[in-house]
Amino acid sequence: MPRVDCCFIMTLQELAKSLHNCQKCKLAKLGRTQVVFGVGNPHASIMFVGEAPGFNEDQKGEPFVGAAGKLLNDLLASANLSRDQIYIANVIKCRPPNNRDPEPDEVETCKPFLMQQIQMIRPKLVCTLGNWATQTLLERKVGITKVKAQAFYMKDFVIFPLLHPAAALHQGNLLDTLKEDFKKLKEFLDKHTQPPPTEADAPAAAALNIESPNPAQMDLFG
Ligand code: URA
Repeated sequence: MPRVDCCFIMTLQELAKSLHNCQKCKLAKLGRTQVVFGVGNPHASIMFVGEAPGFNEDQKGEPFVGAAGKLLNDLLASANLSRDQIYIANVIKCRPPNNRDPEPDEVETCKPFLMQQIQMIRPKLVCTLGNWATQTLLERKVGITKVKAQAFYMKDFVIFPLLHPAAALHQGNLLDTLKEDFKKLKEFLDKHTQPPPTEADAPAAAALNIESPNPAQMDLFG
């Protein structure tokens, strides 16, 4: 009889469970309280990706629950978004000691899990918060100030980089820029959101419909 290879398709919940006690990198032994997998709507068409859990996130087990999270909630509201509409995760799922920057081996180890989350949620738009998330997903060492608030059309989704809310908390002069950039995000969403087909379908979720522009625009780095 021919052998039939059966493929096992993991769900987001199963992936979260499989990482519950992850020991794949040194952060497992450097004082993390728990793995911070991600939260939100598993069917979200918009995903936000931060850098790594901080103190509060490590305690609570959820991304963006500290001061940067409160600012993010306000910024989301300014773009007519709420936390239950979106999914939020980080590049690194465990808190680096003293909130130091993630190290390259930690990003390399954890990135496949972020990619699996993206594959499972299938967002149309991924908003990267700060340099780490932006460079990890664009796969280019490019400064956030150069690419922020622009759409980058990847094969399966669009990346929309934004400054990290924590940067605006540390440097007050960046707050207005961040607010402006969320206005641009709202404009982008308004332009690409189709209303429900009929009155009767409201309040069914409006669909985010992002078509790839002409191929010449696909790689804005040239
Ligand atoms: N900063 C991040 O990048 N992620 C969090 O979850 C919290 C703060």
